[in-house]
Formats: sequence, structure tokens, C-alpha cells
Amino acid sequence: MPANPERDYQPRPGLLDGRVILVTGAGDGIGRAAALAYAEHGADVVLLGRTEEKLEAVFDDIESRTKTRPVVVPADLLHASEDAVTTLYHAIRREYARLDGILHNAGLLGPRVPIADYPMQDWLDVMQVNVNAAFLLTRGMMPLLEEAPDASIVFTSSGVGRRGRADWGAYAVSKFAVEGLVDVLADELAAAGRIRVNSLNPGATRTAMRAAAYPDEDLATLPCAEDHMPLYLYLMGPDSKGVTGQRFDTS
Ligand code: NDP
Repeated sequence: MPANPERDYQPRPGLLDGRVILVTGAGDGIGRAAALAYAEHGADVVLLGRTEEKLEAVFDDIESRTKTRPVVVPADLLHASEDAVTTLYHAIRREYARLDGILHNAGLLGPRVPIADYPMQDWLDVMQVNVNAAFLLTRGMMPLLEEAPDASIVFTSSGVGRRGRADWGAYAVSKFAVEGLVDVLADELAAAGRIRVNSLNPGATRTAMRAAAYPDEDLATLPCAEDHMPLYLYLMGPDSKGVTGQRFDTS
């Protein structure tokens, strides 16, 4: 393991050769960058997201740059259900017969208002996308992950999922829930030692979500999603084998 994988990790070509990785929110922002980085390092990537045209564009980029076999799965996680996850499970088993990792990246920001004014429906929607869908997908894919030689589940957190701040509402609470899910799951899976589970806070990143959260900020001053990819590759690839239940931040 590198001394400081958040800063020093250098992924080698072919790091993910032969692996199959599911990325949620793969059409834009950090998820798009991760899907491309995983494919460029050899993985077949299952591109799950809300907007089909964006996923098709990522699919085309991957096809033009790599020899891997991506698939597009248009799905709004607001409506994620046990049945939909079961269908996806069988589709991945049919197409690839394996799954080596999940990057839970899709996220809903929700309104930036105090708890006293927070609308109930927005609360439920943010929890559904950021927590419930990640739980359902993880549980549903578990039989495939258990068959993999060394599987990795990466949950996307946030600074406000480590310390809450005013007006971050359900988004912050959902990220605390994600951190809790990582703790519980990592502990449950530690003894078998086959599946590692970690959380990753990308930090301020030049994306549409960041622009929505900080409309007055100059996005050009922030790192872009591609800058974070060494850490995303480290956690998904075999070099992080044995690393579990930990919280990572991009430096
Ligand atoms: P973006 O908004 O740029 O991208 C999010 C992606 O998730 C989009 O492709 C979006 O789809 C997809 N998505 C959103 N809702 C759903 C849904 N209901 N079903 C399926 N897909 C959905 O966000 P970022 O790339 O900035 O964020 C990625 C992750 O990183 C999130 O979990 C976020 O909380 C976290 N994060 C980001 C930070 C930042 O500064 N950017 C800082 C800390 C954490 P569509 O393209 O259709 O909108």
C-alpha cells in the first residue's frame, strides 16, 4: 500500500483488466470521469444513470478509447426497487458472469435550506437516491461480489457527511447514513476478507452539483474530477486489497 494513497498513488496500465465495475451516476461529473478511468485501466463498466443520452456519450467515449465492453443502464434511482435491482443483477450475470466492484456515486443535493423549512418530499427523495438506492444495489449485487476474487465497494461521502453544517439538510444527513452503512457493512464482511468497503469524500470538485451548491463560486478555481482518479482507481483496484472500513478524502 502506498504511504499516502490519497496523494501518492500511481495506477499502472491494465490495473483493472478483466474486472467488471458498476458505476452509478456515470453520465456526468465525477461518475463520468471514474467510468472512463476504470475503462481506460481495463474494466468493463456498467454505466448506470438517469439521463440516457449522457450515458450513451460516455459509452461512445469508452468505445473509442478502449477495447472494453461497457453497457448502459438508464435508471432513475429515485424509483429504485427490489425488482429493478434483481433484474439488473440477472442482466450483469448474463452479460459478464461477474462483478468486481461498485462505485456508489450518484447523488442528489436537495434544497439548501434550514431543517425548520426543509420540505418532506425533498427529504425523502434525497434519502432515497443517496442512501436507500445504494443499500438496495449493494444488497442485490452481493452474491456476484462474493464470487469475485477481491471485490471493492466504494461509497461517496462528503465533508458534510463527516461534520454537519447549517443548511445542508438531508444531503448531509444522507452522507452520515452512508458513512454508517460503510461501518456496518465493512464490519460484517471483514472476517471473510473478500469484499472491502470504504467511503470516499471527493472534496470540492468542478461539477454541476458543486455549481448548484455554490452558485457564486468560480468553478475554475477547483480541481476537476479527473484530478481525483488515482484515488478512485486505488480503491477499486487490487492494490487496496485488505483496506476496509476506512474514510478517504482526496487531498
Ligand atoms: P453531478 O451532479 O455532476 O453528477 C451526478 C450524477 O449522478 C449525474 O450524472 C446525475 O444524473 C446522477 N444522478 C443524480 N440523481 C440520480 C438519480 N436519481 N438516478 C440516477 N442517477 C442520478 O455530481 P458530482 O459529480 O459533483 O457528484 C458525484 C458524487 O460526489 C455525489 O455523490 C456527491 O454527493 C459527491 N460529492 C461531490 C462534491 C463536489 O464538489 N462535486 C463534493 C463532495 C461530494 P444526470 O446527469 O441525469 O443529472
